[in-house]
Amino acid sequence: MPIELIQLAFAPVFFLGIALEYFHQRKRYAIRDSLNNAFLAASYQGVEALSLLLLMPLFYWLYQFRLFDIALNWQTLLGAFLLQDFLYYWFHRCSHRVHWLWAAHVVHHSSDLMNFSTAFRQSLMYPVAGMWLFWTPMILVGFDPKIVIAIVATNLAFQFFVHTEYTRRIPVIDLIFNVPSHHRVHHATNPQYIDKNFAGVLIIWDRLFGTFEPEQQNEPCRYGIVGKMERKNLFNMIFHQWRFMFRKYHEAKGIRAKAWILFGPPSHEKA
Ligand SMILES: [Zn+2]
Ligand SMILES: [Zn+2]
Repeated sequence: MPIELIQLAFAPVFFLGIALEYFHQRKRYAIRDSLNNAFLAASYQGVEALSLLLLMPLFYWLYQFRLFDIALNWQTLLGAFLLQDFLYYWFHRCSHRVHWLWAAHVVHHSSDLMNFSTAFRQSLMYPVAGMWLFWTPMILVGFDPKIVIAIVATNLAFQFFVHTEYTRRIPVIDLIFNVPSHHRVHHATNPQYIDKNFAGVLIIWDRLFGTFEPEQQNEPCRYGIVGKMERKNLFNMIFHQWRFMFRKYHEAKGIRAKAWILFGPPSHEKA
């Protein structure tokens, strides 16, 4: 099943979630912000569908070098899910610590609101940034590219539900799973919350690799990004960090300085 169909299958649930949240917590929504999120989602989905036309042949070319022939059953599917969620953690952590990846990911963080529609705020530049590279180890291990893409789509669909201010703590569940409270921390700019909780589905990766931070009652989340936030012009929203990065690249002297601009931590100077 193509990735778009999996996400389309979740669409009624997404719209119901947004409608319920809007009627209960209207103050969490701003029409312009949600329209921007809708446009960003549509453009991201369109570019992703096109890029898969190019990437699938590449994935199947890689698949011939796989280490194992993996039969499909519930145990191997569980293994695939765990491996993909682990790789997602590293993709997301790198997206915050590597300027090249942050240039795409910054779009997701460029809202000072947190509601279900924030989940749709995605950049069409992810295929250029190379998100897909993070899934190639799964293909080389021996998971069929179609299964890999289906699991990626399901993981991203799950993350819709963590973009809300609805729930506080969810005892026991929040020890293992990424829940709204954990992801609110991820979107916050409070110093103690910066670069924390990179989880997709399982929060265990943050707990294992030292990036877990619980939400504190006395420290309400302030959403957005450090530095100037581009929110008005959609084109700027998508491309301003790329422009800023390449300007810095051209200004840098020497190959090491240039590489540091692209692959070092993102700069929060005025972009
Ligand atoms: Zn992030
Ligand atoms: Zn998010």
